[in-house]
Parts: sequence; structure tokens; C-alpha cells
Amino acid sequence: MPAKRLDGKLLAQQMRAEIAQAVAARSAAGKRPPGLTVVLVGDDPASASYVRGKQKGCAEVGMAGRLHHLPADTPQDRLLALLADLNADPAVHGILVQLPLPKQISEAAVIYAVGARKDVDCFHPENVGLVAAGAPRYYPCTPYGVIHLLRRNGVELSGKEVVVVGRSNIVGKPLALMLMQKRTDANPAGCDATVTVAHTRTPDLAAVCRRADVLVAAAGRAGLVTPDMVKPGAAVVDVGTNPSAGGKLVGDVAPGVADVAGFLSPVPGGVGPMTITLLLANTLRAAELIDG
Ligand code: NAD
Repeated sequence: MPAKRLDGKLLAQQMRAEIAQAVAARSAAGKRPPGLTVVLVGDDPASASYVRGKQKGCAEVGMAGRLHHLPADTPQDRLLALLADLNADPAVHGILVQLPLPKQISEAAVIYAVGARKDVDCFHPENVGLVAAGAPRYYPCTPYGVIHLLRRNGVELSGKEVVVVGRSNIVGKPLALMLMQKRTDANPAGCDATVTVAHTRTPDLAAVCRRADVLVAAAGRAGLVTPDMVKPGAAVVDVGTNPSAGGKLVGDVAPGVADVAGFLSPVPGGVGPMTITLLLANTLRAAELIDG
């Protein structure tokens, strides 16, 4: 039997409807709409497409989406000055600087310059530390999107063997932290799973992956996870987005995996829409933290 589809597009619609309701309730109470300001530097087409998705998401849920589009040769000082203005602007609840940045700008300097309370990407070390400590202010969007996609499709995580392929600061590492933590009221993303993180130095990736009840592929390598690497019936989440020869996006999971896995997320239409939805959820939370 082919794997059940972990449909991120459908779940994102449901969650955005819930967020839109909360935004409308705030408006009815006389509060200003949650505001998300995106800063895009340069003209990278993939980045521009991600930014359009975020703007569209804001419009869908009634948030005030704003865009600062700066030229590719913008000096770092100018970007940091803009971030200082946005940090001080009460109509801006969330700030997101689209990565990657042109080479004259230090990514670390920018991540530190976004005020931690407005850091809806959850990249600032203060917010990363709070997640690691199990006392989160925000959750990182892609990892929490993966957890929602699994949970809301009935995939049990507590006590399960989960393998995460990839250890980046944006996906693999925070996801592993959240998966292994205890689930509590203060830390609802905690999953109580037994977690293994695999990476480029993992000697026998296939053997490690075969242990997984839940396998998350976040390596950015097209077709890395093949059917022989998947335990029959396992849930497989494909985070990868890789350009293919035909110009379409493909994931890290090879096509035949659908015949072995019990659950599988598609690319596109799996984790991508969830990431933007969790960004909107964080922006709502930022408005609640800042405006009450
Ligand atoms: P990254 O390049 O920063 O990290 C990739 C990780 O995978 C590294 O830790 C590396 O050790 C590991 N890796 C690479 N090749 C491997 C191999 N052959 N075997 C084992 N491990 C390997 O990438 P990232 O930012 O974490 O993103 C990963 C993928 O997820 C990319 O395709 C990216 O486009 C995609 N992504 C998608 C979303 C979304 O919303 N859908 C969000 C973020 C990232």
C-alpha cells in the first residue's frame, strides 16, 4: 500500500484559518494587527519567491506584511541601521531577514541585530538558547512545522526512534532538540522521542536510517534517502528542496520510498507551507508578547 500523504498544504490551510481567527479577535478587541516585516537584500529568484510566499501568507490571515527590498550592494551598516529602526517601531512585531545574504554582510551580525522579541525566525542565540533550555519564547519554523505535520496526521512520536539526517542550525539541530525534549505545558513541542542525528560523517547512513520509526531528511541532497534505507511502515518527512534539471523542486527522498513508508510528505506541498504557517504563528505570538 502506498504511503499516506503528509499533506502540508492542507494542514497549513487549517492552521492559517485558526491564526486568522485569532488575528480577527485581536482586531475586534481594538488591537493593531500583527505586523511582519521582511527584509530582502538583492535579487536572488529563490529568495524572492520565498518572500512572496510570506507576504501572501500575511495577507491570508489578516496580518500587516511589509517588505523592505534593498539592492544587492547594500552595505552592512545600512542594513543594521534599518534593523535598529524596525526594532524600535511599535507597528512591527516580527522581523525576518531573508537568507542567504550578499557576501559583504555577515549573517551572524544580522542575526544578533534583530531584537530577540521580534525574532520570529527564532535564529537569535537568546531564542535558540531558550529552545535548548526547554523554555521557549518562539519555536523555529521549519522544525515545528515538521512536528505539527507528524502529530496532526496521527504519527506517534513519544518513545519512538527518530532519525534526523542533517545538523544545520536552521533545521536538523533545533529539530533534534525539540524531538528529544519532554513534552510539558511550557514546552508543547517536546516529543519524548529517542533521537539520532546523522550527517556527512555518519559512516553507514542506510543502517542508521533503517532504525527509524520516523525519518526526517534535511540534507539538501536530491534523492539521498532510497527505499532500502527505510523501515517498512516508517513515517518519512522530506524537508529537502533541491532544484532539478527540469526546473522543478525535488526533495531528499527518492520516489520509490512511497512504496515502503507508512507516511510520506511530498515536495512541494509538505514542509514548505508548514514553515510559512509557523512563521505566521510566531508573528501572532510576537504581537501577544509585545502588545498584550
Ligand atoms: P545545510 O546545507 O545547512 O545542512 C545540511 C545538513 O545535511 C548538514 O548538516 C550536512 O551534514 C547534512 N548532509 C548533507 N549531505 C549529507 C549526506 N550525503 N549524508 C548525510 N548528511 C548530509 O542545509 P539546511 O539549511 O539544513 O537545509 C536542508 C534542506 O532543507 C535544503 O534542501 C533546504 O533547501 C531545505 N529547507 C527547506 C525548508 C522548507 O521550508 N521546506 C526550510 C529550510 C530548509
